[in-house]
Amino acid sequence: MKYQNLLDRFITYVKVNTRSDENSTTTPSTQSQVDFATNVLIPEMKRVGLQNVYYLPNGYAIGTLPANDPSFTRKIGFISHMDTADFNAENVNPQIVENYDGGVIALGDSGFTLDPADFAHLNNYKGQTLITTDGTTLLGADDKAGIAEIMTMAAYFLRHPEVKHGTICIGFTPDEEVGRGADGFDVDGFGADVAYTVDGGALGELEYENFNAASGRVTVHGANIHPGTAKGRMRNALLMAMEFQSLLPADENPMYTEGYEGFYHLDRMTGCVEETRMDYIIRDHDRAKFERRKELFSQAAGFLNQKYGSGTVEAAVKDSYYNMKEKIEPHMDLIDKAKASMEKLGIWPIVVPIRGGTDGARLSYMGLPCPNLCTGGHNFHGKYEFIPVQSMEKITELLIEIARSFAEA
Ligand SMILES: [Zn+2]
Repeated sequence: MKYQNLLDRFITYVKVNTRSDENSTTTPSTQSQVDFATNVLIPEMKRVGLQNVYYLPNGYAIGTLPANDPSFTRKIGFISHMDTADFNAENVNPQIVENYDGGVIALGDSGFTLDPADFAHLNNYKGQTLITTDGTTLLGADDKAGIAEIMTMAAYFLRHPEVKHGTICIGFTPDEEVGRGADGFDVDGFGADVAYTVDGGALGELEYENFNAASGRVTVHGANIHPGTAKGRMRNALLMAMEFQSLLPADENPMYTEGYEGFYHLDRMTGCVEETRMDYIIRDHDRAKFERRKELFSQAAGFLNQKYGSGTVEAAVKDSYYNMKEKIEPHMDLIDKAKASMEKLGIWPIVVPIRGGTDGARLSYMGLPCPNLCTGGHNFHGKYEFIPVQSMEKITELLIEIARSFAEA
C-alpha cells in the first residue's frame, strides 16, 4: 500500500461506535464521541507529530501541522466529523473484499447482499479492495474515511519534510449527523484562513453549493362543536390545513424535484378539528427564489386568514442555513485548486449541488470558507455502505496535492 496505516486507521476508527443522538441535550450528543476523540484521535494526532493538539470539551479534536517553509503564509484547514448517522453502529465488523470480481457480495451471514444490479457503481471497482459491512451495522466511512485520509496526509507530510507546505490546521468535529457540528466550532482558535470538509461521497465529488433552508410551522386554529349542530359554527382545522397545503405548488415537492429545483416539504402533520399543526421544510439553492418561497408560504396563511378570520392560521418561518456558494465565490481558487489537483492525479472532478446542508455551509457563514471534498464512500447511513481502499488512497494523495498547491500560490 502506498500510504502506510491508512487502512489500519480506517478499520480502527470504524470499530468504535460513535453514533450521535439527536434527542440528547449534551454536547457532544454522546459520550462515545468524547471517548473516541480523547482515547483514539488525540493520542494519534500527537503520535504522528501534530502540534498544539488539544481537545475542546464540547467535542472538537484540534491540531496543527506547522509550515515547513515560512514563505507560505496562507493557512489551510481540513475537517471531518467523528460521529456516525442514526443507524446501528454497535460492533461494526468490516469485511475486506480483496480483488473484487464484479459479482454479488454477501454481507456476512445477514442475508443482505451488495449486488451490482442494485448498486451500479460497484461496476467501477472491479479488481479493487472494498470495505463493506457485515450487514448488521453501517460502516461509518461517513466520515471516518475523511478522518483516516486527513490523519494519513498529516503523517505523510511529517515523514517527508522535503515536501513543502504552509500551516495546515486539522479539526475533527462531533455531531454532524444531528446538524450541530458547527455549533461549538471555534473558527478563530482553529486558525485557518480557508478550509475543506472531507465528507462527500464517490472519488471526484467536489461541492460548494447547498440549499438555502428554512423550517415552517403552521398552526391552524379551528372551533369544534357537535357535528349535529355545527352548521355555520364549526371551523375544521384539519380541512383548513389541507387547504393551506393546496395553496402551495403541487409539483414543488421533494418527490418531483432534483438538481437545482427547490421545494416545500410537509414533514409532519398532527391535529384534530380544534387545532392542527403542520411542519414544513423549505429549500432552494437560489437565494431570491428561496425568499420568494417563504413569502408565498406566508401569503397562503394570509389568504386563509382573510377567508376565515384573522388569527386562524399562524405560519412561523425560521431560516436554518444558507447556500455556502455566496461565501465561496470570493474564494473560487479553493474550487480551482481542488479541481486542478484532481486533474493532476487523474481524478475526474464531479461538481454537484448538494440537496441538503453541510457543516461547511455553516462554517462558511461563520467566517471560514469551506467547500466539501469526497471521501470515496458510497451508500452512506446504512448497511450497504462501502468504500474502495484505492479511492481512500487517491483522496489522501489529493489532500496532499491540494495542500501543496496552496504552498505554490
Ligand atoms: Zn458525513
